[in-house]
Amino acid sequence: MKLENKVIIITGAGSGIGRATALKLAAEGAIVVSSDYNEATAKETAELIKQAGGQASAIRADVSSVEDVKNMIDKAVETHGTLDGIFNNAGVGDIRSFEDHTPEYFNHVISVDQFGVYLGIYYASKKMKELGVKGIIVNTASIFGYMAAKGSFAYQAAKAAVVMMTKSAALELADAGIRVTAVAPGFIDTPIIKDGDDFKNFLAEQHLSKKLIQPEQIADVVAFLFSEEASAINGQTIPVEDGFLIFKRS
Ligand code: ADP
Repeated sequence: MKLENKVIIITGAGSGIGRATALKLAAEGAIVVSSDYNEATAKETAELIKQAGGQASAIRADVSSVEDVKNMIDKAVETHGTLDGIFNNAGVGDIRSFEDHTPEYFNHVISVDQFGVYLGIYYASKKMKELGVKGIIVNTASIFGYMAAKGSFAYQAAKAAVVMMTKSAALELADAGIRVTAVAPGFIDTPIIKDGDDFKNFLAEQHLSKKLIQPEQIADVVAFLFSEEASAINGQTIPVEDGFLIFKRS
């Protein structure tokens, strides 16, 4: 197994990409710390891992809170003895008009999707340095870190920042032997896409396969990025978007 006994925190582990990745990393031998703002879903993910014969614990944490992130990392080390990795994945962002991008909404999205990733990088790397662990950090960016669509002004600003923070953090942390990468998913088949079937079909059409991307397809790439097989990938965001970024729909 690729990740035997590696202690890895996953934020936003209660749903979608986070849950699929938690299950995948555990299946590869990792000890998963399932973290989410929603305590019940974080616990559910940990239970699913245990039922499948894996190792996991659960903790509630709001990634936009300094205290919560520090506590999440301390508890992970207290419970499991070390910290080998963190998947900064928790995210928010719906589709809404520019007029509805009030200062409150903009701040909320930035505080979870951008500041939350910064906090995960900052406190996890601090802890890894204290422990003398050459850890691995993976972030969830988005195709909307590269290009714009109407209705996602704040989300796009935050995800572009994740792409750049991934590069900057790789540079800052290389001397400590900490590697930082990200994935940029296309449209995922999860509850974040809440509209009806027509809208889902439209989103599916944006991919070469004309299908939405399954969370498990992202999880496979994240597991690879956490593995030694990806040791020469650093600072890069890997698009997992089924061609979304390569063609202009006609
Ligand atoms: P995706 O398609 O990116 O997986 P989801 O909406 O399915 O999107 O999952 C996002 C996860 O992030 C949810 O489980 C949600 O509870 C979690 N989340 C949202 N905001 C926060 C936050 N501030 N702190 C921690 N987790 C959060």
